[in-house]
Amino acid sequence: MSAPELKTAEWKNLCRRLKATLAPVCHICGAEIDLSLPGTAKWGWTADHVQPRHLAPHRIYDPSNIRPAHRDCNEKRGGHYEQNVNISRKWG
Ligand SMILES: [Zn+2]
Repeated sequence: MSAPELKTAEWKNLCRRLKATLAPVCHICGAEIDLSLPGTAKWGWTADHVQPRHLAPHRIYDPSNIRPAHRDCNEKRGGHYEQNVNISRKWG
């Protein structure tokens, strides 16, 4: 079973609200996010799911499960927390 798709309109509304209310700090790298950048920019603001969609489909629209992140950081993490367990392989 694949991860459920986000309903675009509902998701966009939620993102707009969170972007206006949450501190613009990337929860992955800890650096500030420049809100003047478009969301499509490498360092632009994106909403990241703390518990990935495929692990917590019921929390897709739960604001407490969403943190701001740079697009680049978000994409690098790729929504797969469990892969971080194997990160030491890169160095071994
Ligand atoms: Zn970041």
